[in-house]
Amino acid sequence: MKAGIVSIGTELLLGEVVDTNASYIASQLPLLGLELQSVIAVPDRMDSLVEAFQQAWQRFDVVIATGGLGPTQDDLTREAIAQLLGEEMTVSPELESDVRAIFAAMGRDMSPSNIKQATLIPSAQAIPNPRGTAPGWWVEKNGKLMVAMPGPPAEMQRMWEVEVMPRLRARIPGDVVLLRTLKCFGLSEAEVGEKAGRVFGMGNPILGVYAKPDGIHLRLMAMASDQEKATALIAEAENRLRSTLTDHLWGTDSDTLENTVGQLLSTRHLTLATMESCTGGLLASTVTDVPGSSAYFKGGFVAYTNDMKASLGVDAGLIKEHGAVSREAAEAMAQAARRQLGADIGLAVTGVAGPDTLEGKPPGLVYIGIADGKSARSVEGRFPPRRVDVKRRAAVYALFVLREKLISSPS
Ligand code: AMP
Ligand code: MG
Repeated sequence: MKAGIVSIGTELLLGEVVDTNASYIASQLPLLGLELQSVIAVPDRMDSLVEAFQQAWQRFDVVIATGGLGPTQDDLTREAIAQLLGEEMTVSPELESDVRAIFAAMGRDMSPSNIKQATLIPSAQAIPNPRGTAPGWWVEKNGKLMVAMPGPPAEMQRMWEVEVMPRLRARIPGDVVLLRTLKCFGLSEAEVGEKAGRVFGMGNPILGVYAKPDGIHLRLMAMASDQEKATALIAEAENRLRSTLTDHLWGTDSDTLENTVGQLLSTRHLTLATMESCTGGLLASTVTDVPGSSAYFKGGFVAYTNDMKASLGVDAGLIKEHGAVSREAAEAMAQAARRQLGADIGLAVTGVAGPDTLEGKPPGLVYIGIADGKSARSVEGRFPPRRVDVKRRAAVYALFVLREKLISSPS
């Protein structure tokens, strides 16, 4: 079945409010086996609304609208639906007493304009909204379905989860939809696209490739008449992806890099110390996002000046010779962090966050150092030179380097 989303509100077209309702609903529709065909934003104008609804009603089996259910004159969603279907809006006595009760509970009088939030048309049923004053509308006519929900995201999401999603699930016949995400690091989007070529051709599952802060995500979506068939389709595609993307794949679904390395450190009974001079503590912060990380994370240093690095045991002569942003400095920092805290592994970041060059080196240039009791090594990264992005990507890269070390060394 085909679906369309209509997002209502002039603020969306002025760029004042980002249409997060549409992206939320879009992420939910595959779970129902509904194929989203269009998202449209419409200003608070009667003619625009009626035109958008007419087109959506004609083209799709299910139309999901948000916004325009408030009490003011520019909230016109109900009026537009009534006009579309040629039905008359009347005040429902039950809804009116509900709305009055909401105001009474807040200790406020209901203004006359709120009465339109208690209206219905013959084809509409009200959808309860405990987080606000505007009920939604569930509209069914001639085998088609339209759902109108309020614009405030918290009200909309609650209404979707508790009311709309279960009703849609019960009403929509058909396929099981399974989603699986594989997470990849160290390849460009284009390289991933090439390596995933054979899976793109499969059609079912459908493959989507997305660049995210922690690398490239590959999202598989399979549709089948039952769970077993859908699982088999996903498994075949996943095997193909694993055979070409190999060690670049580091996780699936809700895995995070910090969780993954945390588990590896725990199972190998290893401890970690960090020294950062580009990420300002972001690496330590990310490592400690994991509950229980204090069992393996001994601590970290944010060391920006050369003096501070030297006081922690980084050879001042080495920094003078190679610079603070160098492979040599990264390795020495990793070793120093490890020694200072008596950890098994030291992990360090040094780089040019930008926007200016440093030591004649360009913004976005980063070195990650990693050391254990025996040796140290380093890798170079070059990221697009936007300060916050350089920091974030450097921290992710450091975690990826740590993961590589942990999976390549015997447990
Ligand atoms: P409304 O139901 O039109 O009265 O919407 C009230 C408020 O919800 C607006 O002022 C926006 O801040 C928010 N809102 C409306 N539509 C959206 C949307 N599509 N995405 C995110 N926020 C929205
Ligand atoms: Mg509005």
